[in-house]
Amino acid sequence: MGIPGSGLAKGLAVTLRTMTKRTVTEQYPDVQPELAPRTRGVIGLFEENCTVCMLCARECPDWCIYIDSHKETVPPAAPGGRERSRNVLDRFAIDFSLCMYCGICIEVCPFDALFWSPEFEYAETDIHELTHERDKLREWMWTVPEPPALDPGAEQPKEIGAAQKAADKLAAQQAKEAEEARQAAAEQAGTDQRTKDAGEEA
Ligand code: SF4
Ligand code: SF4
Repeated sequence: MGIPGSGLAKGLAVTLRTMTKRTVTEQYPDVQPELAPRTRGVIGLFEENCTVCMLCARECPDWCIYIDSHKETVPPAAPGGRERSRNVLDRFAIDFSLCMYCGICIEVCPFDALFWSPEFEYAETDIHELTHERDKLREWMWTVPEPPALDPGAEQPKEIGAAQKAADKLAAQQAKEAEEARQAAAEQAGTDQRTKDAGEEA
């Protein structure tokens, strides 16, 4: 048998110890939690980048990505070229009642069409509402944070280099066309002046 009152003393000791510790309880929803920048809340779809390659749907361990598409014939890029066919997205949906937030779909997408958004407040009372169709997945895109800045001195992403090269080429082409137009206008003005002078002399 222990000393009378020792249980009470132990209980009070625990209370005192706990009172001096920093609380970890979050007062959600009155106070919004401070989330890590790349929190896995919900998945956003940037459908302009999606080529309907089906990689995400095939790799998803839960089979909760639903994609429908059809083929469309595209005219040749240049005269005399061959017609091409491309996949057109009809449906893209993710069932978040099955998703386990593993991120595999985002990792495997070769065309940067899927992104994590930190938004997490999309609980529903009807489980069917947790299947988000493409319009809703697109809406989530606007909540995706900017990618973190590159380290100082880091190599530029190759997409930016390629886009810069294309922009420089276009600018050079436009400058050349403008110069040719300017020269043509100057020559035309000279011809008009000579014709006018010849008319006056006659
Ligand atoms: S996060 Fe994982 S489980 Fe969820 S849709 Fe993507 S691959 Fe499937
Ligand atoms: S992996 Fe990317 S590009 Fe391919 S179907 Fe999925 S979202 Fe679209």
